[in-house]
Amino acid sequence: MMELILIVILFKKLKAISDKKNQSKWFPWLLPLLWFAGEFITPFIVVFVYAILGNPIANTLLLYGYALVGAALGAVIAFRIVHSLPTKSLTCPKCGWEFTKFSRLGVECKVCNTQLKVVDGKVSLLNNA
Ligand SMILES: [Zn+2]
Repeated sequence: MMELILIVILFKKLKAISDKKNQSKWFPWLLPLLWFAGEFITPFIVVFVYAILGNPIANTLLLYGYALVGAALGAVIAFRIVHSLPTKSLTCPKCGWEFTKFSRLGVECKVCNTQLKVVDGKVSLLNNA
């Protein structure tokens, strides 16, 4: 339960970063994806490595600890990826004016003065709703 709350909080943080860069709404999903991938794969790797070293792991609590380390690594990688994304510029569909910043209400094109709105990284004319 604690884990799910943490995932939701981190997901929202990652979404805020991704949205600010006008990136796809799918990028924040890297967080739960890499979290669970790290959580499930890491214990197998650890068991494998311990077995190779001729030292079988018996402590399940220790394995759970490794799983959480894997989850945390997954989260770090997800944040790294989204942090490294460039800010995508958006363009006015009428004249091609490029912009990166807009408010929740939309933006006015500085070239042709058209009222534009941005939904999920896509630009459309406000009056054509
Ligand atoms: Zn324009």
